[in-house]
Amino acid sequence: MPKRFSLAHNDNRGHLANMTEHAPTIGTVHLVGAGPGDPDLLTLRAARLIMNAELIVHDGLVEPAILALAKPSARFISVAKRRSRHTLPQEGINALLVREALAGTDVVRLKGGDPFVFGRGGEEAEACHAAGVPVQVVPGISAALGAAAAAQIPLTHRDASSVVSFVAGQCKGLTEQDWSGLAGKGRTLVIYMGVATAEAIADKLIADGLAPEMPVAVIENATRAAMRVLRGPIAGLAALVERGKVKSPALIVIGEVAARDEVELRKFALEVVE
Ligand code: SAH
Repeated sequence: MPKRFSLAHNDNRGHLANMTEHAPTIGTVHLVGAGPGDPDLLTLRAARLIMNAELIVHDGLVEPAILALAKPSARFISVAKRRSRHTLPQEGINALLVREALAGTDVVRLKGGDPFVFGRGGEEAEACHAAGVPVQVVPGISAALGAAAAAQIPLTHRDASSVVSFVAGQCKGLTEQDWSGLAGKGRTLVIYMGVATAEAIADKLIADGLAPEMPVAVIENATRAAMRVLRGPIAGLAALVERGKVKSPALIVIGEVAARDEVELRKFALEVVE
């Protein structure tokens, strides 16, 4: 049974050092969210940890401008994941984190977005706890929130949506999960990792009863210089992705909120202020 994850378990180095004088000091693994790309969207805590880090173990999604905040002496290990090929399998990443921490190194494990949203942070935290390595988690702005803000798509809206779901569009997310009821009137569905399976996703949702004209927005490279937003009806999602040559990282937002234009957004902002 996996050990329970607790933030109270923050830093036990002092405690361990008191137990045996010569026991090696165990480092802490910081699971840090780097946000969706724009370095301005880092939390202050994430920025401070990156700036002071001795070792940064990072994913491919982390922007070079964020890594550039580190000290010149910092060591970097890239464990970039690709859809079909993993540079290091997850067990290898877990073992690397544990090995470095047990050797006394504080590790900054830097992940795109938030570490606990499709980031495998849970698996890494469990591996660390099983090995007696302390863990701290620093939340990041997940891609859905960053993309929605950058594209001015409100994920909820009193007139259009009061439910938001985040779904993984590949692997188990596509084949094993029941998607019925996740998209439709009054709801927003945000799909991570769905570019390659966009056609299957649209077919599945429409077969489950989603109106073919339900608006969809595809947001590529959200919050980065190369950001693009493509819009259309769900029935045209596959064509939108194909003709637009959409590449990962991109999010698919399905729901009435995806079609609200800026005039309506301004009206919404005024309504809130009043
Ligand atoms: N932990 C991350 C998600 C990792 S899964 C988070 O919380 O955001 C990787 C997927 O996230 C990508 O396939 C893509 O769907 C989405 N993603 C990450 N960064 C993105 C960005 N800048 N723009 C659009 N989608 C992004």
